[in-house]
Amino acid sequence: MNYKKTTIATTFLISIILMCISCNSNETVVSKDDYRGVVLYPSDIRSLGADKLIDILNESNINLLGIHTNTLTEDLDSLKEYLVSPDGKLLIDLCEENKIDIEYECHVLQEILPRTLFDNHPEYFRVDSSENRTNDLNMCFSSDEAWLVIEENVIELLEWIKPTTNRYFFWIDDSYDGFCNCDECKSLSPSDQALMYENRMLTIIRNVNT
Ligand SMILES: [Zn+2]
Repeated sequence: MNYKKTTIATTFLISIILMCISCNSNETVVSKDDYRGVVLYPSDIRSLGADKLIDILNESNINLLGIHTNTLTEDLDSLKEYLVSPDGKLLIDLCEENKIDIEYECHVLQEILPRTLFDNHPEYFRVDSSENRTNDLNMCFSSDEAWLVIEENVIELLEWIKPTTNRYFFWIDDSYDGFCNCDECKSLSPSDQALMYENRMLTIIRNVNT
């Protein structure tokens, strides 16, 4: 009898603990959903100025600012130039004061694996569907040597890209047919190759963001 009572009590206790864990995880999800954000380029922010932008964000109940950098339009140099400028520093301070989080949307694969490396290391880059090695888009996702270059550049990048949400966004080049068809990659779908990129980036980020 005592054994049965103990078993029932233990089961009840475990159920309560599981419910609490479940409640807590739900709360975490809800708090993430509380973000109301906008994504802007550095030039958008520059054109308004930090003061004016913060007023607009506050009036619109926006508490998350995503700053987009894109190799083809506003590259990493452009982002860095803004962040170290007086207005960029003011923006960071005002966001903190007004409890507005900042994160960075990085479409920069072409910069963290510079296209100029193609001349000496074509093997870092993809083989297109016509079986030509090209540096037009993305990379050979199976090239460990290319990944060493990316790792070195991303570690340097993370010294000045500091999202207050601790969330990072690094994307492959957008394209329908921009993946690698080399012997090692050709059995991998575009989704597989994109996932390889995200997982490798995650490993790099976790190694420095402990
Ligand atoms: Zn490949």
